[in-house]
Amino acid sequence: MTTDLTRATAAELADLLGAGSVSSREVTRALLERTAAVDGAVHSYLHVDGDGALAAADAVDRARAAGEPLHALAGVPVAVKDVLATKGLPTTCGSRILQGWVPPYDATLVARLRAAGLPILGKTNMDEFAMGSSTEHSAYGPSRNPWDLERIPGGSGGGSSSVVASFQAPLAIGTDTGGSIRQPAAVTGTVGAKPTYGGVSRYGLVALASSLDQAGPCTRTVLDSALLHEVIAGHDPMDSTSVDAPVPPVVEAARRADVSGMRIGIVRELTGEGFQAGVQARFDEAVQHLVDAGAEVVEVSCPSFTYALAAYYLILPSEASSNLAKFDAMRYGLRVAPDGVDAPSAEQVMAATRDAGFGDEVKRRIILGTYALSSGYYDAYYGSAQKVRRLIADDFSRAFETADVLVSPTAPTTAFRLGDKLDDPMAMYLNDIATIPANLAGIPGLSVPSGLADEDGLPAGFQVLAPAMADDRLYSVGAALEARLSAAWGGPLLDRAPDLTEVAR
Ligand code: GLN
Repeated sequence: MTTDLTRATAAELADLLGAGSVSSREVTRALLERTAAVDGAVHSYLHVDGDGALAAADAVDRARAAGEPLHALAGVPVAVKDVLATKGLPTTCGSRILQGWVPPYDATLVARLRAAGLPILGKTNMDEFAMGSSTEHSAYGPSRNPWDLERIPGGSGGGSSSVVASFQAPLAIGTDTGGSIRQPAAVTGTVGAKPTYGGVSRYGLVALASSLDQAGPCTRTVLDSALLHEVIAGHDPMDSTSVDAPVPPVVEAARRADVSGMRIGIVRELTGEGFQAGVQARFDEAVQHLVDAGAEVVEVSCPSFTYALAAYYLILPSEASSNLAKFDAMRYGLRVAPDGVDAPSAEQVMAATRDAGFGDEVKRRIILGTYALSSGYYDAYYGSAQKVRRLIADDFSRAFETADVLVSPTAPTTAFRLGDKLDDPMAMYLNDIATIPANLAGIPGLSVPSGLADEDGLPAGFQVLAPAMADDRLYSVGAALEARLSAAWGGPLLDRAPDLTEVAR
């Protein structure tokens, strides 16, 4: 077991804490020191709450000393994407329009983290309102990829992927509307899980597209994701789309890591052409590892996936345009008075505020969504997209008749350079070609590192998808693959990333 507390996994930290070998204060302080050293270069955080995290750590240490029963992860710190409401802590969604907003309440997920005794280190950077695949749409500047600081850490949750990849936190929370947990995991060599839609409460998650949004874990190991998943999942009466059913046995699945007899379906439409050669090669090798571990491979076809991106970019902007209407300069956040107007009307203030407060990508999607929903076009655009959504769900149902899980590369390429796709929205959207179908169908997905996939030594991801509420299968496959690959690599993939000591100096 590693002695550097910042490099320990959450499971290892839980053991050390449980055995009384370290205190939560020591762990929390080590991580905060790491942040002080490297986050100037990586920029994972929008807000660090050192005092709050240490106070929470002390509370856990006191409870442990008093012999109180504690959650297994009590005392293990976590970072939270800035799209979740945190009482007393700024929540900006990476947008100027929410600059300075401090929520008066906790999201259910955040309340569960606190109740389980996980100190919250801070709020992580993200593309504005979770729109993007690189964090370059953050109003507060991009996060950077710890493997190469000139490259993107994925998006929209690049703050949460880079915070775990740069050893500033063992655990982070992300949200995945079209891939924003899985794609960042893939390009940073980390693990990310999108639970079944409704598996984790959306209460207090600032909505991008309500029918697609789902929060989940960002970690360095599959077991850590399962442990965090278990803390945040479960029914919540405050969210009308929350599933009222037992949480799938994710931790047990991750620990057993058993894929013998499992039917692994390779999705024809999500492999081959369009995927970088090295990404495809690492994928093929990973499949072979699963076969060696006793799984059986079948090929499946999901023909409607060809239209998934088009359907998503009508449904998402439609829902987003409606969800973002609440940022009206009247209730919270930014308020801008229009230039040269003496006694501006509410509408003029609203227009000036939304003009100054929203970035280009957000405006683009509000315009697109408003258009798609307008009478006369509703059936042609939004209505058609909903029909495609149904076809995609049907494709999944058929595929899951012959396969227990489906697999593909998570993202088509390794991390691209900052600025490379910023002026080309379509190129940016294409990063989520393999992740978006799962959101449209509401099924769970996981990304695990598949290896280094290009001449620059950058990581790629392997995606696993399962039927709704069969999240445990993701963890069985992910953990089995992780065990075989790290044995082949002689340790975790992240051991090969630059240690950032140079930037820390
Ligand atoms: N990149 C996708 C988008 O821009 C997904 C975003 C997300 O999952 N939040 O919409």
